[in-house]
Amino acid sequence: MTSQSVTPDVHFPVERLNSVETPCYYYDTRLLGDTLDAVNTAASHPAFRVHYAVKANTNPGILSRVAAAGLGADTVSIGEVEAAIEAGFPAGSIVFAGVGKTDREITRALRLGVGCLNVESAEELDAIVRIAAETGIKAPVALRINPEIDAHTHHYITTGLAENKFGIAISMLRPLMERCRDSQHLQFRGLHFHIGSQITDLTPYRLLCERINTLRQEYEDFDIPWINVGGGLGIDYDHPDIHPIPDFDSYFDVFARHLHLSPGQEVHFELGRSIVAQCGSLITRVTYVKQGVAKKFIIVDAGMTDLIRPALYQAHHKIDNITSAADAEEVYDVVGPVCESSDCFGRDERLPLTQRGDLLALRSAGAYGEVMASAYNCRHLPGSLFSDSF
Ligand SMILES: *Cc1c(COP(=O)(O)O)cnc(C)c1O
Repeated sequence: MTSQSVTPDVHFPVERLNSVETPCYYYDTRLLGDTLDAVNTAASHPAFRVHYAVKANTNPGILSRVAAAGLGADTVSIGEVEAAIEAGFPAGSIVFAGVGKTDREITRALRLGVGCLNVESAEELDAIVRIAAETGIKAPVALRINPEIDAHTHHYITTGLAENKFGIAISMLRPLMERCRDSQHLQFRGLHFHIGSQITDLTPYRLLCERINTLRQEYEDFDIPWINVGGGLGIDYDHPDIHPIPDFDSYFDVFARHLHLSPGQEVHFELGRSIVAQCGSLITRVTYVKQGVAKKFIIVDAGMTDLIRPALYQAHHKIDNITSAADAEEVYDVVGPVCESSDCFGRDERLPLTQRGDLLALRSAGAYGEVMASAYNCRHLPGSLFSDSF
């Protein structure tokens, strides 16, 4: 053994990767398949329906594999709806959320036959009723509610608060529920919640269940066929080799134990990151190893344009040198070529002795990675490679 004690669980086909143009996203399809199996097993409760939150990664190779595993899709634009249908998700298994659906998007979604529009305001409901009347298509709708779960105790939660651009405040709910029930142009599907992202402590989900139970009592006079609890389950960015698959059993168990259901009622989930993050790595080549005054910098050919999470959210992706055979280690700052100081992937990273030409893998990059790439600085978009494609 070298002094690098953890061998990556994802097996990197170094020879193949050495011959592709970098930066490039590499997807381990075996891990993706194992993750999808784990989700399907953990969510085998007859009332549970899992949708994949498409915004996490819309690479057609990812979408088609997730569709083939039988999940539905959760989308936030008509472009995502169309990409999901193209990849093989049945239209009826697609839910369409988003605070700013345009008339054109609503019309097209109804014509395509999406399973549900998750409505985020009274104004949007007005537009949907008008368009449903015009097109003669009864619109399936759910109301997105802000469950007002205390953010102070759980600092990750940023989207479930009362005053927020997302969703409808509980205090404003009743007239909208009545409208959904009474309008001949609407088919009321149920209630939708989403409390935030990268949630690794399950307590907020238990609190969400309790909040939903209370709401259901308050709205006993309504038929609520679906409860959609959103997504947000987090992953272990620090230890992708120790926790390649999130603990889906514990996650779904919270809902099985704490959410009270009526007969026939379905629970819908919208998981994005937890399904696709660990199977993806951004492969990048070392352009220079630069000696500064007190520091050594590794300058790589990937930048914030290829993976923006570190620059945007101060996120950290584990960095592996997948070509160095050196026993000796060195401490480096790993930075990209883009003209922004935030274009930095890691400070004081301990890596095996690294040279120009080595390949680094930025791990856990399958979610909110490739899909957020931009052409800033006239840079080319990164390519992608699937482990079962060669
Ligand atoms: C982003 C989003 C999700 C998925 O979140 P993850 O943290 O990737 O699981 C689910 N539902 C809604 C409404 C979202 O906006």
